[in-house]
Amino acid sequence: MIEDLLRNNNIKVTRQRVEILKIINKLGFDSSIKNISNNVSDINQSTVYRILNKFYEDGLVEKVIGLNDEIIYVIIEEDKHFIRCLKCKKIEEVKTCAFDHNIENVNGFIIKRHSLIIDGICKKCQSNI
Ligand SMILES: [Zn+2]
Ligand SMILES: [Zn+2]
Repeated sequence: MIEDLLRNNNIKVTRQRVEILKIINKLGFDSSIKNISNNVSDINQSTVYRILNKFYEDGLVEKVIGLNDEIIYVIIEEDKHFIRCLKCKKIEEVKTCAFDHNIENVNGFIIKRHSLIIDGICKKCQSNI
């Protein structure tokens, strides 16, 4: 449930926050600020920015660079790993990760989750080098 994502991150549940989070979830890798703003009902632009910023600062979303160099907001639900093509900016989720998922402490920190972004060149772009 979307509301639980807010609660789990100690973010107060409000109608606007739930709506924006649902839109990010629905849009997936298309969730740029422009697309998010186009999908909200009656939330003004500056409120959308403010809420996205809060989500980011509270560790609920990650920012990744998408096609056309715009910022894409991705919900960090559990351990997420992305691979991104440096040429065409295509983003995909990957399952491989060298980090030991059983580690519970690093530098004295209790690990809650982690994210990983790998940059590379996709198959399609390799043939165009
Ligand atoms: Zn590519
Ligand atoms: Zn991992």
